[in-house]
Amino acid sequence: MINYAREGKMLTHKCTKCGRLHLSTVYFCQGCGAKGFEPIVLEGRGSIATYTIITVPPAGFEGYTPYAFVVLRLDDSELRISGFMADITTPADLPVGTRAKITGFDERGIVISKDASDNSAS
Ligand SMILES: [Zn+2]
Repeated sequence: MINYAREGKMLTHKCTKCGRLHLSTVYFCQGCGAKGFEPIVLEGRGSIATYTIITVPPAGFEGYTPYAFVVLRLDDSELRISGFMADITTPADLPVGTRAKITGFDERGIVISKDASDNSAS
């Protein structure tokens, strides 16, 4: 999962029966209960669904503030990825719906950045 995130992608597990995508490894499909899955790698692009600005970081993460804990809804799926975006200090910095993409992985988890190159409507 970390290596995919570093390449801007997201590894998912697709139910071979109903096609539902799962972010983490599951034993039974959350849609139909089947047990067969195949790996599907998605582009880590989407739009910001919601976020929380972190002004008081957990111990050990002081050097990262200000940042936001964001939820990115991936394009072409209902999947939501949580990650971290740097340099977000006020809600004006990050309107909901902002285009964004996975850009890496560090000790906080998935790193998400604004996707300035993507002008497509969400
Ligand atoms: Zn299924």
